[in-house]
Amino acid sequence: MKNNVRKKLEKINIRGKIERNIPMNLHTTFKTGGNADYFAVPESYDDIAILLKFTKMHSIPVFILGGGANILVSDNGIRGLVIDMSKISNFSFKENICSAEAGFSISDLSKEAAENNLSGLDFIYGMPGSVGGAVWMNARCYDVSISDILLNINYLDENFEIRTLDGIDISNNFSYKFSPFQNSNTVILSASFKLKKDNKYNIWSNMKLHKQDRENKGHYKYPSAGSVFKNNRDFGKPTGAIIDSLGLKGYSKGDAEIASFHGNIIVNKKQARSQDIRSIITYTQNKVNEKLGLKLDPEIQFIGDWGNNEYMD
Ligand SMILES: Cc1cc2nc3c(=O)[nH]c(=O)nc-3n(C[C@H](O)[C@H](O)[C@H](O)COP(=O)(O)OP(=O)(O)OC[C@H]3O[C@@H](n4cnc5c(N)ncnc54)[C@H](O)[C@@H]3O)c2cc1C
Repeated sequence: MKNNVRKKLEKINIRGKIERNIPMNLHTTFKTGGNADYFAVPESYDDIAILLKFTKMHSIPVFILGGGANILVSDNGIRGLVIDMSKISNFSFKENICSAEAGFSISDLSKEAAENNLSGLDFIYGMPGSVGGAVWMNARCYDVSISDILLNINYLDENFEIRTLDGIDISNNFSYKFSPFQNSNTVILSASFKLKKDNKYNIWSNMKLHKQDRENKGHYKYPSAGSVFKNNRDFGKPTGAIIDSLGLKGYSKGDAEIASFHGNIIVNKKQARSQDIRSIITYTQNKVNEKLGLKLDPEIQFIGDWGNNEYMD
């Protein structure tokens, strides 16, 4: 980035803050990743639009950060600007509809819904990440996808206009772990969910079962990003079972390891580098392809400056 552009970016007029050289390991659930050149925490939709207009005008790459629970950031960091959505986090309830801004924690939203005697978000309690990230990923657990309960989504389009996606456009454009936002340079601002009236004690007991199940499966034992690869019905078994069938659990590189408790989770046991994690991912893909002829599709997003093949053995 040219010096005069840097200076302008550092002085940009937004309510939120903008900082330089921020370590991404503080913002990812893998607890890995190098520095982001610039890291902004906008506090309003206007702030976001101002940042996006500036970066577009100066051809600065932008990455939108939710909870950092589904990304692997390169040890070389991220060139350009990271926009952290965590301060865009209001939420409200009206009858059986819950609306929340993108930066709010999806798991905390499910707690708030329960307190309002509304069920429907219970399935996602205990899953790390933000509302925006859950919509972008079309997060799925316990046989429910976020798109199953979505009523509408407000987003900033490529021309910085606020648009709404709803109704048939949701049912037609979302699928397993896929949302239309994955194919566009848009920013999810908020989403509304259609929920059902229920008794908070019933809802909480369901939520506690889900959280307990995640604890039993070892989800919170070490830093990770949950499932590394997508499941594929055509493979006949969950990806974790496929990886396990090849005896790959426990395979490690540096401090990164395929979890001994789940074949589809890679954990950071101490001070793993992103490079170690990516190299295990490549190794696993190669082994599964070589032995079984199956092509594993990563669910986690590789973000930042990966250079050339730094992740290969
Ligand atoms: C212990 C653990 C368990 C997990 N279990 C599950 C599970 O059961 N099911 C499941 O589906 N996932 C699971 N995950 C993965 C993760 O929680 C989800 O994918 C989650 O939805 C990611 O949200 P995030 O806010 O952290 O997104 P991030 O990781 O921050 O971002 C992911 C992608 O979304 C984009 N994005 C985020 N917010 C916005 C926005 N506002 N506008 C535009 N783009 C945006 C980012 O640019 C990025 O490309 C798990 C992760 C962990 C660590």
